[in-house]
Amino acid sequence: MHDIQTPYYLCDETLLEKNLKILQDVQNRSGAKIIVALKGFAMFSTFPLVARYLDGCCASGLHEARLAKEEFAKYNSEAEVHTYSPAFKESEIQEIAKLSNHIVFNSPNQLDRFLLKTKEINPKIQVSLRINPEVSSSPKDIYNPCGLYSRLGTPLKNIDESTLNSLDGLNFHALCEQNVDALEEVLVAFEKGFGKYFQNLKYINFGGGHHITKKDYDIERLVCIIKEFCLKYQIDVYLEPGEAVGWESGYLVSTVLDVFENGMHIAILDSSAEAHMPDTLAMPYRAEVRGAGVANEKKYTYRLGGNTCLAGDIMGDYSFDEPLKVGDEIIFEDQIHYTFVKNTTFNGIKLPSLVLKKLDGTIEVVKEFGYEEYKSRLS
Ligand SMILES: *Cc1c(COP(=O)(O)O)cnc(C)c1O
Repeated sequence: MHDIQTPYYLCDETLLEKNLKILQDVQNRSGAKIIVALKGFAMFSTFPLVARYLDGCCASGLHEARLAKEEFAKYNSEAEVHTYSPAFKESEIQEIAKLSNHIVFNSPNQLDRFLLKTKEINPKIQVSLRINPEVSSSPKDIYNPCGLYSRLGTPLKNIDESTLNSLDGLNFHALCEQNVDALEEVLVAFEKGFGKYFQNLKYINFGGGHHITKKDYDIERLVCIIKEFCLKYQIDVYLEPGEAVGWESGYLVSTVLDVFENGMHIAILDSSAEAHMPDTLAMPYRAEVRGAGVANEKKYTYRLGGNTCLAGDIMGDYSFDEPLKVGDEIIFEDQIHYTFVKNTTFNGIKLPSLVLKKLDGTIEVVKEFGYEEYKSRLS
């Protein structure tokens, strides 16, 4: 692998398939349909595999809906495209209606404005409203869709019954990297507020944020809750995880470009926290480095920094058994979800290549980037 130019993300299909099998098991045993949220994971070279296991895609607007149609539906003729946007635009609604099997409006205003047009273009489209259950234990405000003054979803007080007549389903999305206890909490509030409206509906979409493929996730409890819910209301359930699909399915490889001292040892890498691992700064969280410990745990501690001119482009302080030297590879674990879907070419820094390790063990560089990606977004 040393002849692949760093930086690159490597997605390992064997690890991805392990996640997909867990999700398939949840589908089989609970009866829920699971679709992948492209916002978190959109490496479409893996879609021949993903489409064997999951029922479709959750898209956040025109471009994701188009990717779902172009790159996912061709591998799964029954794939469903569910498109939600905080607000749809007049100029895009026709194309979105054509591409989508389900459309999810964020507010009664949007529903009123686009319902007829949507149905005219796609008479079979299923229509849903995203509601805000106003309960969430999401760990961080930036990732809490039910926080104070949230713009995401309609709270109960803004719903009138006539709105509900035109709906096939309801959506909520209230979780972030959470276990089933958080879902249960949201469901109590959701059923209490909105349960009276379920009788004419075909489905409820429980959104994403379910950390189903994480080791300590209580899958048995999830299966049980979904089965009870479907039975109680005679209704279908969807889940739309992003993170749980790509969770621990690969890593980001970078190379040490320079090492020096300024009060502590510093290593500069050919990747960037700001441009290539944005959630490590936004969430924030510390990415694990293969073979490294926390500062001072091992003999040699370094501050790892990116190759942009942003002072805060720092991955963190890590310790190693041996001194770092120019040319060493640094591997950041679990860098497949919410990384390359968010990358930027800030500072003209090269985007990491996308590498696929296939089920049969072969390794393929599926995409390389260069100057063109930087220039094409400027003028
Ligand atoms: C982000 C998002 C998801 C996926 O969330 P994960 O935390 O990646 O599972 C699903 N649905 C909606 C509406 C979202 O905004």
